[in-house]
Amino acid sequence: MSEPDVSDLLSVAQAIAILDAAEVRPREVSIPLAEADGLVLAQDVRADRDYPPFDRSLMDGYAVRTADTAHVPVELDVVGEIAAGASSACGFANGQTVAIMTGAPLPQGADGVVPVENVEKVRSKIRVLSASAPGRFVARRGSDVRAGEVVLRKGTRLGPAQLAALATVGASTVPAFAKPQAAVLSTGNEIVPHDQTPTGSQIRNSNSLMLVSLLKRLGCDVTDLGTVRDDRDAVRDALQRGMKFDLLFVTGGMSMGEYDFVPRTLAELGADLQITKLRIKPGKPFVFARKDDRHLFGLPGNPVSAFVCTVRLASRLIARLSGERPVEKWIHASLSDALPANGPREFYQPVFCRDGVARPLKWKGSADVFTLAAANGLLARAENDPPLPAGAAVRVLEV
Ligand code: AMP
Ligand code: MG
Repeated sequence: MSEPDVSDLLSVAQAIAILDAAEVRPREVSIPLAEADGLVLAQDVRADRDYPPFDRSLMDGYAVRTADTAHVPVELDVVGEIAAGASSACGFANGQTVAIMTGAPLPQGADGVVPVENVEKVRSKIRVLSASAPGRFVARRGSDVRAGEVVLRKGTRLGPAQLAALATVGASTVPAFAKPQAAVLSTGNEIVPHDQTPTGSQIRNSNSLMLVSLLKRLGCDVTDLGTVRDDRDAVRDALQRGMKFDLLFVTGGMSMGEYDFVPRTLAELGADLQITKLRIKPGKPFVFARKDDRHLFGLPGNPVSAFVCTVRLASRLIARLSGERPVEKWIHASLSDALPANGPREFYQPVFCRDGVARPLKWKGSADVFTLAAANGLLARAENDPPLPAGAAVRVLEV
């Protein structure tokens, strides 16, 4: 089946250029570190002191002057013990050693640690069995970062490791960007809530839950505005409610059908429609509009289309609104089976990727959420891409 002429529609690259040029104003807030998971840093954060803050033992063992261990085996007198958190004020002389625990400060004069595994205990002495060298099993003060050094840059998304770094440097409140506030609205007379039993030609709403989950994962606070009927006034009211959020995602009613009220109503409400149709498959009727600082995404009603357009396109603007640069998670893989030539629209086909091999899942169209649910990637095919043989190198967008 050949496709209608799509040459007057925007390409994906053109849409990306428009989305990336749209002005966004992330809101800076000061937030307790314990609540900052998933947010993006609004300023660089620096180390408050050297790390490690003191010369620190990396092993349970014995702090030594390493020169004393030049000729092994050698016996040293154990004259004290330093536990983690204890004072390092434990003097010792040539031929002596101090028992030391992991994380404890090295005593003055010691320049290395012999691990317990490399000694034999002989009453109040130890017999060192292998020579130590200066710095061995010691983390020097400031060897990780120096006081004042930037530990995390503005624009960094905070996750477990970043929270650990900020906790270490005592950043108990952090400058971050507030989460974008997003709303999700479904349209369609045929749509019933997912927990109701459809009758006749009704279908359950799959888009709202999908988008709420997707947008949360992309870093938004999300409000579900439910479903609105294909009625001009109802759509208008719902859009007005949705336009109070930083981001509004509307699904369905985006094409040129008799009851597709969304694009014209957005225009009537004063929104600037910057994208209305795209050469993307699935998802031709994709709308991006702006009103003041509000960003409106009109997605096709078919769930796979709505999913693909959000992942491939809307995610870029969400990232910038969160204070981050758009990141595209591409996997390079080799194709398990041959694929036919692609049509005139850039195609994102659900695939399952493992061990560098992308297995295309049978494409049954943009309503098929079951195949989407089995996918972990979207194989990108360029417009008019020629047939691909098995083993071809392909790019897959991770989802
Ligand atoms: P539309 O874009 O409104 O023409 O809808 C395209 C297709 O997607 C139709 O078959 C709709 O029934 C279906 N659809 C629209 N909205 C939803 C929704 N929220 N959940 C599941 N399917 C939907
Ligand atoms: Mg509809």
